[in-house]
Amino acid sequence: MVIGLRIDVDTLRGTRDGVLPLCDLLKKYSLHASFFFSVGPDNMGRHLWRLWRPSFLYKMVRSGAPSLYGWDIVMRGTLWPGPVIGTRCSHVVRSVLEAGHEVGIHAWDHHAWQSRIARMNADAIERHLSSGIHMLRQITGVQPCCSAAPAWKTCDAALLRKERFPFTYSSDCRGHSVFRPIVHGKVLSQPQIPVTLPTYDELIGRHGISDHNYNEFLMSCMNPEGLNVLAIHAEVEGLSRIELFNGFVRRALKKGTGFAPLGSLISNSLPVGHDSIVRRKLVGRQGWVSCQAGMTDPGSFHAQPPGGEGRTFTVPQCS
Ligand SMILES: [Zn+2]
Repeated sequence: MVIGLRIDVDTLRGTRDGVLPLCDLLKKYSLHASFFFSVGPDNMGRHLWRLWRPSFLYKMVRSGAPSLYGWDIVMRGTLWPGPVIGTRCSHVVRSVLEAGHEVGIHAWDHHAWQSRIARMNADAIERHLSSGIHMLRQITGVQPCCSAAPAWKTCDAALLRKERFPFTYSSDCRGHSVFRPIVHGKVLSQPQIPVTLPTYDELIGRHGISDHNYNEFLMSCMNPEGLNVLAIHAEVEGLSRIELFNGFVRRALKKGTGFAPLGSLISNSLPVGHDSIVRRKLVGRQGWVSCQAGMTDPGSFHAQPPGGEGRTFTVPQCS
């Protein structure tokens, strides 16, 4: 079994402090992954405070957000315009590419995309994609080969616009298999490699899951016969939870499960079907998320309860 490993980098702090420790960790095990960078202004603090409401406050408390992300992430872009990440951290992005990892575009302005994509017109989407790709190309000297939409939020206009860039794939949604998206009745050429597994902030504090049993639980979520794609964050697994992630890698390797960049999952024998992308609610996440329409069990996935033996239970994922 192979886990496609996707590392999202959303903020200046995550890029500056979380990426290289993750590279070191992967190097220790001779592993490679796909890194998706946000390269424009870091306004993510604005994003966190915009969501200030009882349900989000609960999530902040449940996941211990200020200690998980750091106060500078929580405040970034709220009182003054956010710094441009690609300008400050170009050496980090280059190091990742030189270490042999796959490098793709996550966002120009993660906050703007995440909060406004549903209302953005085609011109605004074009500006976001072009600015991010241009900056990443300036930093690395090469065209990014892949992309991943911030917060798993995409739309028909963004999917169509991405067709004009030479991406070998995009990872814009949650789902269960590699597929080519159908937009306005037409099958697009660029495949989608969806994230199949839940993220740390979606799981922690629910169903009795704590740092103590998190790795065991995540391992039990794997599908031995199908696609397994895990998304981690430089802001979480690269910083305060790096030891936890190290434990997960060790546990997986010990069980014979490997890790690989997402691009390598296309070239193996996994079939590529066609499907639509729809918006769904995901438990543990604010707002809607783009999902592969034909997920056989879109409301849940089956996993071993923490400490449980030989039985599974259903974790509600979407609503
Ligand atoms: Zn992100």
